[in-house]
Amino acid sequence: MTTPDVTAMPAPLVQGDPREVADGVFVIPDQRNPAVPNIGIVVGDRAALVIDTGMGPRNGAYVLDHAKRLAGDRQLYLTITHYHPEHGFGAQAFRGSATIVYNGTQHRELQRKGADDLAMFKGFAESIAAELADVEFVDPDITYDGELRLDLGGRTALLREWRPAHTHGDQTVLVDGNLLFSGDLAVTRMFPIVPYMMHGPHDTDSDGNHWIDILDQLLALAPQIVVPGHGEVTDVSVLHEDRAFLAHIRDRVAELKAAGVPFEEAASQLGNEAASRWTTWDRGEFIAPTVLAFYGSPEASA
Ligand SMILES: [Zn+2]
Repeated sequence: MTTPDVTAMPAPLVQGDPREVADGVFVIPDQRNPAVPNIGIVVGDRAALVIDTGMGPRNGAYVLDHAKRLAGDRQLYLTITHYHPEHGFGAQAFRGSATIVYNGTQHRELQRKGADDLAMFKGFAESIAAELADVEFVDPDITYDGELRLDLGGRTALLREWRPAHTHGDQTVLVDGNLLFSGDLAVTRMFPIVPYMMHGPHDTDSDGNHWIDILDQLLALAPQIVVPGHGEVTDVSVLHEDRAFLAHIRDRVAELKAAGVPFEEAASQLGNEAASRWTTWDRGEFIAPTVLAFYGSPEASA
């Protein structure tokens, strides 16, 4: 099965200062480091919300320092867009300093798959293993199902769970109805990551068809600014682009499957097609798992 190309991966360190992308909304950009997510800090009159932690306690502490500096004596909340290591495995740094909020699905998914992911990511690179060496999993202080509205004082963050798509418990955060933290449901200038069976044949939690439905619902929200899980902060166009890619693979897989083309051949053909159509996108290694997700049959991966 395809694994991320980490041979040239820089150390997984959150770096740089938060940038204000809208009034009271800050992002520590990922700088296109694939092992670092975009991190959000939303500051209201009374409270501030941190979105994602970076990988491991050292990155978590770095993010917490920036959050404390921006938030002053305001109450702090932490949430994560999904349980994946670079998004949530720094949460332990926030224990005692922030109220940790996850959706119930996300929390159960972390309990179910966190240890496996930890072992898998440690195998990717020494620099990743070093950041993950002292990870402890943290239970949230608050869990919710469906939606949770956090009133930060003059600024509202709407947390919403979507399942399943990139993971089983993806979460978006919509700030004041017009700025969307999409997590990995949208990524800028790179192929969406559909990690189908990347943990082995039992791992069928990601769902490309439902992902397309979710992108339609996110498009209906018409956010003005979109902070993707990875890649540059952008606008609603990223939702259109990622939807177009997923729908293209869905439709081509349907055609090739109907013609009896086996998975390996389809993955190769669609990989070449996608690489020549989306020439500016990184992470081409994630096209094949996307094809497999739409093939949807364990036997097809043999
Ligand atoms: Zn992810």
